[in-house]
Amino acid sequence: MDQPSTVSLLQQPVTALKGVGEKMAEKLTKLAIIRVADLLFHLPLRYQDRTRIYPISSLRVGQEVLVEGEIDTTEVVMRSRRMLLCQVNDGSGVITLRFFHFSHAQKQSLSPGSLLRCFGEIRQSGFRLEMVHPEYKLLNPAHPTPVENTLTATYPSTEGLQQRSLLKLIGIALEQVHELPELLPEHTVRTYQFPPLADSLMLLHQPPVELAHLPMTDGQHPAQRRLVFEEMLAHQLGVQQARQAIKSVNAPAMPEANTYFSQLLEQLPFQPTGAQNRVIAEIAQDLGQNTPMNRLVQGDVGSGKTLVAIAAALHAITHGYQVALMAPTELLAEQHYSNLCAWLEPMGLEVVFISGGQTAKQRRRKVENLLLGIGHIAVGTHALFQKTVEFLQLGLIIIDEQHRFGVHQRLELREKGKQGDHYPHQLVMTATPIPRTLAMTAYGDLDYSVIDELPPGRTPIKTVAINNERRDEIIERISSACAAGRQVYWVCTLIEESEVLQCQAAADTAELLRERLPNINVGLIHGRLHGSEKEAIMQAFKANTLQLLVATTVIEVGVDVPNASLMIIENAERLGLSQLHQLRGRVGRGETASSCVLMYQAPLGKTARKRLDALRSSTDGFEIANIDLEIRGPGEVLGTRQTGDVQMRIAQLIRDQHLLPAVQDAARDIIANYPERVPALTQRWLQQANGATATQFFQS
Ligand code: ADP
Ligand code: MG
Repeated sequence: MDQPSTVSLLQQPVTALKGVGEKMAEKLTKLAIIRVADLLFHLPLRYQDRTRIYPISSLRVGQEVLVEGEIDTTEVVMRSRRMLLCQVNDGSGVITLRFFHFSHAQKQSLSPGSLLRCFGEIRQSGFRLEMVHPEYKLLNPAHPTPVENTLTATYPSTEGLQQRSLLKLIGIALEQVHELPELLPEHTVRTYQFPPLADSLMLLHQPPVELAHLPMTDGQHPAQRRLVFEEMLAHQLGVQQARQAIKSVNAPAMPEANTYFSQLLEQLPFQPTGAQNRVIAEIAQDLGQNTPMNRLVQGDVGSGKTLVAIAAALHAITHGYQVALMAPTELLAEQHYSNLCAWLEPMGLEVVFISGGQTAKQRRRKVENLLLGIGHIAVGTHALFQKTVEFLQLGLIIIDEQHRFGVHQRLELREKGKQGDHYPHQLVMTATPIPRTLAMTAYGDLDYSVIDELPPGRTPIKTVAINNERRDEIIERISSACAAGRQVYWVCTLIEESEVLQCQAAADTAELLRERLPNINVGLIHGRLHGSEKEAIMQAFKANTLQLLVATTVIEVGVDVPNASLMIIENAERLGLSQLHQLRGRVGRGETASSCVLMYQAPLGKTARKRLDALRSSTDGFEIANIDLEIRGPGEVLGTRQTGDVQMRIAQLIRDQHLLPAVQDAARDIIANYPERVPALTQRWLQQANGATATQFFQS
């Protein structure tokens, strides 16, 4: 070891640990584990009880338990596929172990008469109980093998990194846990009666057996409350620093009137709504300053965020600056591109499309145009911010559908747009309604505007829930909608993680619908198509050459085809409320009455029924977000999609939001009275998965 011995092992990179090489370190980096201390803050998702062995006769389906017995038989059988079946008998009963992947050596080792201990989930198979691919260990009957004496943590992991390795490394780090400095002021610890940091971490990584029946993941245990508080505090410190840092640098002031936008308004077939005008004015006010705008615009699906974005872009262009508009998916980027071309090119403005799929050669001209300042606005996905893409005078960055980008990505983008000592302005758009307290945490570094009005003349979407078995009626509906000149979306959802399977399911559905609806042109769009293929299909759908578009959830955000008035969502019971609301927002964008059919597989669970009912009774994004919170209850995580990617290790924004006022007080106290603890706290908790710490960004 080349580190002097006075440096605590905790402060050293993980490679200081035996058995951790470059490869392993890389995987750990993906989990935001860079230094040994970071292992201590990698907290369990849940726990397994491997402290006792269950008699087979007592097992119930769904339990995850340790079982021990003698092997009766082991055989390879051919059913639907080849598999290895091993019967284990403990005298009280028999359980089957089923393996689909196994080696010859493995089969040999599972010889009848051997003593085996295994851990896994109990499932029902015919009249028998079984475990599929359990973890197991052959035991030596002469030497008793002890069971664990604490609960076993299950950690968030990443590909190629085994739980066993994480458990071992975290175990080693825990031996040093008492070296961790206490960073909360003593009076804070006293006020809230927090247990010491080291004890809290020990308890969460290796809970004693007595805690097996406490809901260890609900955040109520004092050890958890302490860590939740400290994490939220670190986050708050980061946000407050970011806010200060953002306002402390220069940006190009753009004080003149937005002449290009006035020109555009003359051509537009509609008037901006009052809410759009208000938000456009707020943005113009920000852009007029010589400090960077950093504003979040929230507006429900269909509220007309694109026009607001374009107004902002034209404001910058009027002042001679370039604009980068970033969308979360290729599909959306392409849609923005074709809208912008239609609206801006007649004014002599040059729109540049940068896509991840372009070759270097295809891109060269476009990139040159940006560097020469011939391109006025660049549209694309995050490909926009690759090193090779440079601007002559980037004045404004617009990020559409923000929920896929996090604070740090935002700050990183800002760095890339830096020119001299000037930073570009930033505008972030999102359809995700967030309660105010949440916004303060999730988007605390941003100013906040809301487009709280829909364009006039919209007829509310009628939503119905229909059992899958009534498919024929739905096909009838599609047929009559298309006969009336309208267009239809059919969204296929699959619970499967695999994109391949999702796309296959959509392809099958499209085929089926083509057969059933021979007079209608059916298109198919999914994530595995190339950008240009997707664009061609979207264009055809926009042009009404295709009447029915079968899609995976790729169309969830942003897609805009006002003539589409019927939306069918398959397996709606499997989706979350917000996602369903987003999907439904693809219709109801024109003046025709639109409807949304939620197909479900009966019987519906209680929560699924509540969700579908909520959608039927409301079309207001804020209301739906509130119902969503109610249904999920305070104990549930809001997915990162809803929280603006705030990656918390233990705190949960909704569940813990009541702590926010206390956390904000503590943050002010620390900044004022213990400023030297700020970097230590932010480094401890805000380590990023890309290896950088948040503070690096904040110190720009
Ligand atoms: P979102 O907020 O979901 O991004 P869009 O910007 O895609 O919404 O706008 C939805 C639709 O409403 C588009 O077809 C757009 O042209 C139209 N639109 C936007 N603003 C107005 C307005 N003030 N009056 C009428 N239609 C509008
Ligand atoms: Mg949009």
